[in-house]
Amino acid sequence: MKYYILFGPPGAGKGTQAAAIAEKFHLCHVSTGELLRAEISAGTELGQRAAALINDGKLVPDEVVEGMIASRFATVKDVDGFLLDGFPRTLQQAEALDELLDEDAEMVTAVISIMIPDTMIFERIRGRAVKEGRADDASAAIIQNRIDTYHAQTEPLIAYYKARGKYREVDGAGSIEKVRDEIFKIL
Ligand code: ATP
Ligand code: MG
Repeated sequence: MKYYILFGPPGAGKGTQAAAIAEKFHLCHVSTGELLRAEISAGTELGQRAAALINDGKLVPDEVVEGMIASRFATVKDVDGFLLDGFPRTLQQAEALDELLDEDAEMVTAVISIMIPDTMIFERIRGRAVKEGRADDASAAIIQNRIDTYHAQTEPLIAYYKARGKYREVDGAGSIEKVRDEIFKIL
């Protein structure tokens, strides 16, 4: 099984690229952000707790997303692998993922990082806010908190995966098609 991680700051275009990649390589796309938003829409207790954090630009607890990933791995069949989007986002999550895969004698295949500068994050998310109506896209303060959270908690993963020889980076500033073709080349 292949285990790809789609990495990058908020608004980098992970969700946009994931659909095309998953289809072409017969992968199950798992977005922790989408799974959490589904919990929020369904009004579950988990969703209510998650919403408070998400709408403040903070991360939900590691155990919550780790559980979501583990249950996907256990139940999804008939795919050539998984495309993880928005997970892992902390060093603890990265270590938990390694342990989980190790139990099945599997490992992370590669990390595809879509990189854009902070200034572009604002532009992208503001454009999306109009179309998708996400509460966490609605204010500049929340977006700034997510950028800060990314730098503090998620960016250290770059060194983690570089040290393991898994890290590949593409320039996320180009058109959707250009970024997609660059990712296809790597895969
Ligand atoms: P992109 O636009 O590139 O798809 P994003 O950061 O804007 O990414 P999501 O990945 O959908 O959006 O995540 C939305 C929110 O859900 C995050 O800000 C965070 O609060 C929560 N979340 C998602 N994944 C995780 C995770 N692995 N750990 C903790 N919290 C998470
Ligand atoms: Mg997303």
